[in-house]
Amino acid sequence: MEYPGNLYVVAAPSGTGKSSLVKALMELDSHITPSISHTTRAPRGQEVDGREYHFVDNATFDRMVAEGAFLEWAHVHNNRYGTSRAGIEAMIGQGKDVVLEIDYQGAIQIKQLFANAVLIFILPPSWQELRSRLQRRAEDSADTIELRLRNAAEEVAQVQAFDFVIINDSFDRALFDLKAIAHAQRLKFAAQKRARAETFRALNIL
Ligand code: GDP
Ligand code: ADP
Ligand code: 5GP
Repeated sequence: MEYPGNLYVVAAPSGTGKSSLVKALMELDSHITPSISHTTRAPRGQEVDGREYHFVDNATFDRMVAEGAFLEWAHVHNNRYGTSRAGIEAMIGQGKDVVLEIDYQGAIQIKQLFANAVLIFILPPSWQELRSRLQRRAEDSADTIELRLRNAAEEVAQVQAFDFVIINDSFDRALFDLKAIAHAQRLKFAAQKRARAETFRALNIL
């Protein structure tokens, strides 16, 4: 599919800081909107239905799969997560830049659908730091944290399929890197030609 806007796909092992970084990016950049996934996972403490996720039961998720309502979906940490086709199409239709926070399986599926999707993988600085972030966040049970850490090793092995890699050691440095990627997309020829059409015309380019 051809899409003139930018689709950013951000993946990282649970606890790396992906949601915090994407949230900080969107606070600085009002042109980027989030894709809100559907999940069968239960909401965590502060999560609100329709804000972090659309929280649905298994039967609803099954029905959506059968109806072809998902652009992609995957099993992650014993739950299912999916990106709604209608949600993405609505945002793309408005010409928005969209950011998807999804797992690597979903990221690879999105890249097959949208060749220009920008795949960004965020790595933790170490396994030890990843464990302490999951513990400090204090949103998951000890068992869930162990499951997420076990899955993390498999997830980081997929980094080679991604366009960009950010290491979230210093948060500010990682946010700077994420901003730089978004900024660079807007300097591409096709994007500049659209955004600066008048300048291009005045310079008699094309
Ligand atoms: P977090 O990893 O601690 O942020 O935990 P979450 O429960 O929010 O996310 C669990 C996993 O599901 C993460 O790897 C997400 O990137 C992934 N995920 C979330 N939404 C989607 C989606 O729409 N599609 C896919 N494929 N993965 C998703
Ligand atoms: P994810 O969405 O990848 O699961 P979160 O954004 O929920 O991760 O971050 C996990 C925890 O780590 C949160 O408590 C967050 O405040 C913290 N965190 C994120 N980035 C950093 C960083 N660079 N240094 C220290 N702690 C961080
Ligand atoms: P959490 O349960 O901690 O919010 O997310 C766990 C994992 O699921 C994260 O890696 C997150 O990126 C991924 N995830 C969230 N939504 C989706 C989705 O719609 N599709 C896929 N494939 N993964 C998702």
